[in-house]
Amino acid sequence: MTEIWVRDKKFSLFLSESEILKGIKNVAEKIKSDLREEDPLFICVLNGAFMFASDLVKQLDFPCELCFIRLKSYEGTKTEGKVKEIYGLVEEIKNRNVVILEDIIDTGHTMYGLIENLSKQSPASIRIATLLFKPEALQLAIKPDYVVIEIPNDFVVGYGLDYEGHGRNLRNIYKICD
Ligand code: 5GP
Ligand code: MG
Repeated sequence: MTEIWVRDKKFSLFLSESEILKGIKNVAEKIKSDLREEDPLFICVLNGAFMFASDLVKQLDFPCELCFIRLKSYEGTKTEGKVKEIYGLVEEIKNRNVVILEDIIDTGHTMYGLIENLSKQSPASIRIATLLFKPEALQLAIKPDYVVIEIPNDFVVGYGLDYEGHGRNLRNIYKICD
């Protein structure tokens, strides 16, 4: 199906499941060569990154941990910016090599706030792995270490990403029709 409706908006097929998984494998190879000896702690940012985190960690064949946090920063199709609070981080991150797993970096406000917050707990290092990156939308100096796919500045859903809470279950990624 190349065109679908999610709530009141029409979307068209943009990235197939196989393209996404191919990109994740490439990133997994880089992570394997960078972090094999580091016993990293992967921090998956819910809800959007759940599928990405799952498919990524399945590719890793070295000791690592995975945990999940929630932030509140996005409503509808407009960015509100600013991370207000992190929920659910019970793991000790002091002196750990942390890798944030995010669904998408848009303006960069969410990632900026999250890094600022995590840095206070003195991790040994913080890396960012993002499924999608919109370089044209970026407003802050955020440089993701691992990017699965760079995309133009269009609103997308599927593979974990939602529109008004819907569409996360889609196995492909779809972009909004004009
Ligand atoms: P930023 O703070 O970088 O502007 O936005 C990051 C967050 O906004 C992402 O974690 C994601 O939840 C949401 N977001 C940004 N762009 C999109 C998009 O195209 N589609 C969806 N579904 N969420 C987006
Ligand atoms: Mg997100």
